[in-house]
Parts: sequence; C-alpha cells; structure tokens
Amino acid sequence: MWHPFTQQRGWEEEAPLFIEHAEGADLFDTEGRHYIDGVSSLWCTVHGHRHPSIDRAVREQLGRVAHTTMLGLSHPPAVELARRLVGLAPPGLARVFYSDSGSTAVEVALKMAFQFWQQQGGEAARRTRFVSLRGAYHGDTVGSVSVGGIDLFHSIYRPLLFDTLTAEPGDAADLERILDSHGHEVAAVVVEPIVQGAAGILLHPPGYLRDVRDLCDRHGVLLICDEVAVGFGRTGRMFACEHEGVSPDFLCLAKGITGGYLPLAATLTSERIYEGFLGRFEEFRAFFHGHTYTGNPLACAAALASLDVFEEEQTLERLQPKIALLEDLLGPVAALPGVAEVRQRGLMCGIALAGFPIEERMGHRVTLEARDRGAIVRPLGDVVILMPPLSISAEKLTRLVEIVGAAIAAAVAAAPLPVAA
Ligand SMILES: *Cc1c(COP(=O)(O)O)cnc(C)c1O
Repeated sequence: MWHPFTQQRGWEEEAPLFIEHAEGADLFDTEGRHYIDGVSSLWCTVHGHRHPSIDRAVREQLGRVAHTTMLGLSHPPAVELARRLVGLAPPGLARVFYSDSGSTAVEVALKMAFQFWQQQGGEAARRTRFVSLRGAYHGDTVGSVSVGGIDLFHSIYRPLLFDTLTAEPGDAADLERILDSHGHEVAAVVVEPIVQGAAGILLHPPGYLRDVRDLCDRHGVLLICDEVAVGFGRTGRMFACEHEGVSPDFLCLAKGITGGYLPLAATLTSERIYEGFLGRFEEFRAFFHGHTYTGNPLACAAALASLDVFEEEQTLERLQPKIALLEDLLGPVAALPGVAEVRQRGLMCGIALAGFPIEERMGHRVTLEARDRGAIVRPLGDVVILMPPLSISAEKLTRLVEIVGAAIAAAVAAAPLPVAA
C-alpha cells in the first residue's frame, strides 16, 4: 500500500498500528491495546464510533438498498437528508448537490460559481477568477488545490493550477483592496469560516467573516464557505457561519456529515444560483458534474441518523461545558517548554511547537509519545492537533490532554534545544 500524505520510506520501520475495532472515543489495535481517538479519525467522528443509532440506521438501509444512482433516479434518504440540511443551514441555502468528499464539495462550488456567471452572459461572464486565503486548505483535487494556500502541499502543482488572487487571512482591508481593483472579474471568494483547519487551527478575528460577506455583497461577488472541517458542531455551533450570522452563497459540507461513517459530501446553494442553471434541454445549461457514488443511500442514512443523534443527545448543548473544560486543560499545556501558542475554537485546537529544526519532526515525535501513552493524535507539521469526538466524556477529554501534555514534555526533553528565533 501507499499511504496518503506519507513518506513511505521509513514508514514500515515505524511499526504501523493496525486498528481492529473501535468503541465510542476509543480505538483498539490488533494487539489489544486501546487509544483515545484524539483527532476523530481525521476530524470526522462526531458521536463516537459504533454509535448504536447510526449502526442501526445503516443496517436498516442495507436491508433496502446499498447503492443506487442519482443520475436519472432519486431515493428517499437523499431527499429527506437534503430537506434536513436546508432546515439546519443558514437562511437562503435552498438546494443540495451531493458528492463524496470535501474536495469534491469545494470543486462543485467552484465550478457552479464559474458556470453560473458564464450563463449570466454579458459583463457577468468576465467573472472568472477566485479569491482565496493564504494558508487555505480546500482538498486535493486540482480545482480545490488551485484555491489552496499551503505551499508544502500545493506549490509543486502550481503549473497545473488556475491562477487565483490571494488575500491575507483575517485582514478585511486586504480583501477590500483586492476586490476594489479586481471585484468585477471575481466569481467568488472562498474561505474556511472562523477557523482555517489545515493551516494549523488558525483563528480569524471576530467580525472577519461578516466583513467578508459585506465586501462580497458590495462587489456582487459570491461567497463559498468551506465548512468541511468546522461544520457539524466542531466550533460549538452546528455551522461556523452561525457565529457571525452569515449566509454564504455556497456551503460545502463533508467530514462530519455522516457522523464519520461513510464518504458523503454536500454543496448547498441558493435558489438564485439554482435558477441560473435552468433552461431548455438544448440550451445545455445543466451542471455537467456528478460522481458515481453521489448521494449514496447508506451514507445518507448514516447522515440522517447522525442529525437525529444531535437532537436526541442534545450534542451541542452538552458540548459547551466540554469546550470550557478544554480551555482550562490547555492552560498548563501552553506553559510547557517548546510550546509557542495554543489556539482553540470549540472542540478543535492546535498546539504550536516552535523553534525546532524541521528534520526533528517534533509534531511527529509527539504523536509517537502520545501513542505510547494511549492516545492517537496527528500533527500538521509542528502543530499538534486535537479534535476529539464531540461525544467524548469530560473524563476522557481530561485524560487526552494530560497524555498530550506528557507527550510534548517527553518529546521536547529528548529533542535538541530549540533554535533561537
Ligand atoms: C479535509 C478538508 C477538505 C477535503 O476533504 P476530503 O474529504 O479529504 O477531500 C476540504 N476542506 C477542508 C476545510 C478540510 O478540512
């Protein structure tokens, strides 16, 4: 096998872990050891593993049909889920286009925004460019990489990508300057609202998202909010846009949408955009895009069950004290030697280590130390990320942060002295 985002040389010597089963917030390996799932199996698991209600919903759907296509056909779980998503999303989002990953959710939004303006014709057809943020991450397909801003992942592909305008994250004046000179040729601004995840949990200042929305409106530009990481309760609200009362023109959802069970994504948009694609068959204004597993019934059934669990277990209400607890627990971590900054919003946090030579792979060392102590975490470079399931108990959350603190202390003690800045 060839693993994602992995230098294969050396991988096997590091004794990979094989996960055999899981339960709640715990992963169990084939040797019988268990670990707290500190990153929700890559930011997806919302209500814990093997949640009885979601398990049951998937099994029941298996008794009906596992897969049927959305090309030319429909099915009840897809319709029901679309209705539920529109009901939960910020006002104005009225239509749901399914795909199967965060990358495709963003790819769909980009292509829809582009095609929408082309079909408007006239001056509007000059709106062909996108504005994205430095440090942005929107997925790994070529379109979503084009609006990405993480050099380590993206710069090698530059010759393959379309050209974008890059704004400084959190700096509304910078976006204003860009739109003042290029507004008429911009199709859409794309942002991860409130928190840029893969940038290392980068927090935008309060009011920034509101300003972005206002600037887009002033210049007639569409706004794409990529909530693939922050959606489904991660920041303490169902969707991060709610913190600033913002309705985007496109809302991209994936990762947590099925509670972390199956690959599914949705791109929500407004009636206005939808209507821009209507016409007679021979006008060819249809959206020419669709993936084979788009709107898979098993995935839709899992997503519906996950939304039910949000209601039944009052997930968001019960999350608030855990967010406060996490903040308290992170205090001592921030004071550890080698820790430069701790950034938290909701139940997502990044612990930035600083001053170590890159080849020391401090983030990775912390991962190995944490593993020895019973927790799975995965860093982004030298930022240790914590993203436990929203359902994690206060007790287990405390244990997780203790383990990570001890792992950082051990890794720092074994490392060469930090390089002076
Ligand atoms: C993970 C992520 C994506 C990509 O999702 P995939 O399912 O891995 O394709 C896109 N945007 C954001 C903000 C993400 O965190």
